[in-house]
Amino acid sequence: MTAKKPAASETGDPLLLTPGPLTTSASVKQAMVHDWGSRDAGFLAINKMVLDRIVELAGAQGSHVTVPVQGSGTFAVEAMITSFVPKAGKLLVLINGAYGQRALKIAQIAGRATASLETPEDTPPDLGRLEKMLADDKAITHVFAVHCETTSGILNPIAEVAAIVAKAGRRLLVDSMSAFGALEIDARKIHYDALAASSNKCLEGVPGLGFVVCRNTALAECKGNATTLVLDLFDQAEAFARTGQYRFTPPIHVIVALGKAIEEHAAEGGVAGRGKRYRDNAKVLIDGMRAMGFQTLLPNDLQAPIIVTFHMPTDPKFVFQRFYDGLKDRGYVIYPGKLTVADSFRMGCIGRLYPEHMKGALAAVREVLDELRVSNGGPALAAE
Ligand SMILES: *Cc1c(COP(=O)(O)O)cnc(C)c1O
Repeated sequence: MTAKKPAASETGDPLLLTPGPLTTSASVKQAMVHDWGSRDAGFLAINKMVLDRIVELAGAQGSHVTVPVQGSGTFAVEAMITSFVPKAGKLLVLINGAYGQRALKIAQIAGRATASLETPEDTPPDLGRLEKMLADDKAITHVFAVHCETTSGILNPIAEVAAIVAKAGRRLLVDSMSAFGALEIDARKIHYDALAASSNKCLEGVPGLGFVVCRNTALAECKGNATTLVLDLFDQAEAFARTGQYRFTPPIHVIVALGKAIEEHAAEGGVAGRGKRYRDNAKVLIDGMRAMGFQTLLPNDLQAPIIVTFHMPTDPKFVFQRFYDGLKDRGYVIYPGKLTVADSFRMGCIGRLYPEHMKGALAAVREVLDELRVSNGGPALAAE
């Protein structure tokens, strides 16, 4: 029925309105059509550039170092938690979604003492309770916080959390996976020991490399903490300092593509430029979806311009699988929700997507709703 050509990326693939991996530029993919040895000087120079540029993006020159971790983002989070929290330490995990839950599980598997402070997925952490827990439990050495909790798309108050943790004399570990590169988190203003992110989110590289921006003085205390060989950030950093090389086979193509992606990030105006495009995308998406009756889970002031959660329409004619398939046929891939507080689905604003793509996605949503004979995306028609 759709005679129109489906929307596509520069290389003809469906557009990924998802939390990652994401649509990347043709030039980033093109950067991968070569082979390098892991000791090749050309590759090692690109790798060094990538690690140095990440420290600069963090505003952390001189104070921090980027330690890369082969694998997806979770590998970097696990490396960060198990390398930084000592065996006799205790980690307080702030939870308002799946990524906070995952961090708690990582710490528990590693045999670390833990505590958690949980709020519902549409609610930021309770800062008063955080202060009180740190005052009451002197055993807590570290606090873990998620910057943008991708489960809902909520922007957590990372600067306020960091100030409370620093004032209480404890150490902060940040999962900035879905924010780093698009939402400012400047190490000169926000005090943390370590921050984890990855190649394939707002930096718009391909998946395969996680990294942790580590405070030099804190990393120096991490010898012997790690519970695994491969995820030992102290050892990985030490090998780099000594040899300039990875201990084990690096994902070379991923790193070279990330080098290209970071060049394109700079050309777009760095964190400010990337963040502006994502904010423009989010505004077009949210305004357009609301105009069709859809309701967002979050109010505007809690919504990060990364991924948007929409309540599932209540019209019984709305069948999510048919909605999903109809959008996919038109070249747009969306994402199911994984909330416990509400039945929902998600649409991402990140990756090589521009406001025109979001307008295209809205037109496709309208078409599919018409096909399903759903006149309104909201809960309002439930009573009809
Ligand atoms: C994507 C993401 C991760 C890492 O997930 P992987 O599937 O391992 O790449 C961790 N934390 C947050 C907040 C994320 O959005």
